[in-house]
This record gives sequence, structure tokens and C-alpha cells, in this order.
Amino acid sequence: MELLKERIRKDGVVKKGNVLKVDSFLNHQMDIQLFNEIGKEFKRLFAACPINKILTIEASGIGIACIVAQYFDVPVVFAKKAQSINIDGEVYSTKIESFTHKKIYDVIVSKKFLNENDKVLIIDDFLANGCALAGLIDLVKSAGASIEGIGIVVEKGFQKGGDLIRSKGVRLESLAIIEGMNDETGEIFFRD
Ligand code: 5GP
Repeated sequence: MELLKERIRKDGVVKKGNVLKVDSFLNHQMDIQLFNEIGKEFKRLFAACPINKILTIEASGIGIACIVAQYFDVPVVFAKKAQSINIDGEVYSTKIESFTHKKIYDVIVSKKFLNENDKVLIIDDFLANGCALAGLIDLVKSAGASIEGIGIVVEKGFQKGGDLIRSKGVRLESLAIIEGMNDETGEIFFRD
């Protein structure tokens, strides 16, 4: 998505440790016009899929997922990072290691909001090593729901997540795929 790549080139900041900061338009301050274009693009890509629910993870996936959901006219469920998992069986839970915080979280979704009739589009802001997505896929499988596809705004193609997820046979669409970044010059290289 050219508009997104241009914006990343203009306002993205390359940090040490393979981190790209996009907090002026994507995951702190949010550019809703850009989000609308992202929503339209995911709708175009997944138009043929019978999606009835969007699943994301707190916090930075939520804003994007909500705008995308308007184009599909479906509800959004976000997986919650829990302090302690509730053991009364009312939730699906999994563990996710955070790329940015280097911490392992228990992540939950209530059984009320995900079940075997659901056809899910998973949406998230970034794909790095794929831990967040692997956890979300695990939650969908626990619920017996089906995954229609995964939409990612920025994939760091030089990290292992993209290959890992595609090797599971899940349809993964990333709107911008970064091949490399240089934290000294600030350059960002995209896959075509
Ligand atoms: P993964 O689980 O694929 O390793 O990482 C995905 C999550 O880590 C995303 O939901 C995102 O919040 C965060 N993340 C990973 N890499 C970056 C990055 O370069 N920049 C930002 N802003 N967040 C990242």
C-alpha cells in the first residue's frame, strides 16, 4: 500500500534493536484518515471471505481493528492481557511473549465472544517474530472458530514471523513489508 509506505518513510523512526517507531500516526497518535484507507484496503483484499468477527490484541491493535471493522460491518473482539488467568473455564487463554517489552503475558478471550460459528479476520499493527499472532491463532483454534485471514499493517520481513505464519497455511496480508532498516542512517527498505 503505497500511501502507507510513503508515510512510514516520512514519519517512521528507526530505533536500535530492530524497532520501528510509528507512534506519530499508528500506535500512539492515530491518523484516522490513514486508518480509513487501511480499512478499505483490507476490505478489498478479504472481500470474498465470509468474515463475521475481527480479532485483535490490546492495546495497539484495537484502534486499527475498529476502523477496519466498519468496512466489514462486524464486531471486534480484542484479546486481553491478564494479570492472572481465571481458572473457572469461562475464557480461552494462551501465552504471548511481547517483542517490545520482552515479557510473557497470559492473554484471554471470553468464551462468550468467540465460538465454533465464527469466521475470524485477525488484525494487528505489527508482525515481528510472530508470537502475538501465534497466540491469537491459538485462541481461535481453542474456540473451534475458523481463520479466514490475517491482516497486518507493518510486517518486518527480516524477522521470522511472516514465514512462520505463512507456513501454517494461513492467508496473511501485510500492507507494508520492510526488508531492512538502518538505525544509523534511518533508511527503511521495503519489499515490492
Ligand atoms: P511479534 O509478536 O510478532 O514478535 O511482535 C508483534 C507485536 O510487537 C506487535 O503487536 C507490536 O505491538 C509489537 N512490535 C513488534 N515490532 C515492533 C516495532 O518495530 N515497532 C513497534 N512500534 N511495535 C512493534
